[in-house]
Amino acid sequence: MELQDHKIIVVGAGIGGLTAALALRARGADVTVFEQAEAITEVGAGLQISPNGRVVLRALGLEPAFDQVSVQAQSVVLRDYRRTAEVLRLDLAKYAAEQVFSFVHRADLIDVLASAVRAAGVHVRLLQKVERVENGPKPVLHLANGAQVQADLIVGADGLHSPTRAALNRADAPFFTGQVAWRTIVPNTVNLPNEANVFMGPGRHLVCYPLRGGSVVNIVAVQEKAEWAAEGWHHVDDPENLRRAFAGFQGVARALLDQVEDVRQWGLFRHPVADVWQQGRLAILGDAAHPTLPFMAQGANMAFEDAWVLADSLATQPDIEMGLAQYQARRHQRASRVIEAANGNAWKYHLSFPPVRGLAHLALRLGGAVAPERMVRQFDWLYGYDVTAGSG
Ligand SMILES: Cc1cc2nc3c(=O)[nH]c(=O)nc-3n(C[C@H](O)[C@H](O)[C@H](O)COP(=O)(O)OP(=O)(O)OC[C@H]3O[C@@H](n4cnc5c(N)ncnc54)[C@H](O)[C@@H]3O)c2cc1C
Repeated sequence: MELQDHKIIVVGAGIGGLTAALALRARGADVTVFEQAEAITEVGAGLQISPNGRVVLRALGLEPAFDQVSVQAQSVVLRDYRRTAEVLRLDLAKYAAEQVFSFVHRADLIDVLASAVRAAGVHVRLLQKVERVENGPKPVLHLANGAQVQADLIVGADGLHSPTRAALNRADAPFFTGQVAWRTIVPNTVNLPNEANVFMGPGRHLVCYPLRGGSVVNIVAVQEKAEWAAEGWHHVDDPENLRRAFAGFQGVARALLDQVEDVRQWGLFRHPVADVWQQGRLAILGDAAHPTLPFMAQGANMAFEDAWVLADSLATQPDIEMGLAQYQARRHQRASRVIEAANGNAWKYHLSFPPVRGLAHLALRLGGAVAPERMVRQFDWLYGYDVTAGSG
């Protein structure tokens, strides 16, 4: 189907919304993004972009701009929290040389996407909070300022509390996973090289990697905790709480924690993947369709994949309804598999009981020594997937 004559609204100028706007515009659609915030901005935090996300940036012509603002990861290193010695080192450059993993500051990625969106002629309307979305032959946005706007298609890339998801699905019941997380960025005074380090402790782990040419280090620290903590990752916390929770951590982790001055904390909640991603002339993507725990670092990468497949399906099917049906058919199973993998991942780093812990670390060490390539390759189904291959 030619998208030239179609007026498409994307709700949300996050990573998913901007990418969808670009992919749809590249197919000729007349695209307008409605964003509730007063500016297209992002919080200070890092993201890992894996090869399956990079292929979408490449297909949209954004790879050179992305490479300017990102750091290429060389390896992943697992460490015990008390010793600085490595439990396992996975050399990405050696065993997955054709797959590029990158670290990027979220604000820098958003800048790359927002510049491209503007250059492509997408209309961006800020300070437009959507209250409700109404499906129909001409779907309608109901804005908080009382205005109503019609389109041929409305795409909800409106995140965790998506009003577009609510128009397609019954409300779900997220549940607290018993884990809280902190995130922060500190100066790279430890000369952390271009690698992701995971420090594994009992009931907690800390991941860190460099950003912005290695000048700063992104930290995400996760702790098992019985008490509930609020969802949403903008809650300011006292750095002392983070330091207390990770008091036993040594070496580089300790040195980084000592520098923390500003930290956010949030509770990790599990949400079901939405059953209905599209109907009539409404569709959802990214966190609106499938919020994920951070343990596979795939939320943004999945949003990239969704955005590409949505535009591709619309362009290759005879009408909007068939395009949207194909979009959900191509995405639901894969996104669900990734989210399941993320749900199952945290406990592996959190083993508490010393003999089990020791054995697990030994198994990791031996596995890494005997078959490092197999350990790197175990996620080929995820990272080696090219959603743009064979696109129409
Ligand atoms: C700590 C942490 C670390 C992460 N690390 C990684 C990682 O390493 N790699 C990775 O791939 N992913 C990672 N993720 C996940 C990733 O950040 C998200 O999955 C991704 O940003 C989702 O993008 P989105 O566009 O779907 O939603 P969002 O980024 O939430 O964007 C939604 C947009 O919609 C707007 N909006 C919402 N409601 C309305 C409304 N009613 N009206 C108008 N506008 C509205 C919002 O203002 C926002 O701009 C991480 C997440 C966390 C919390």
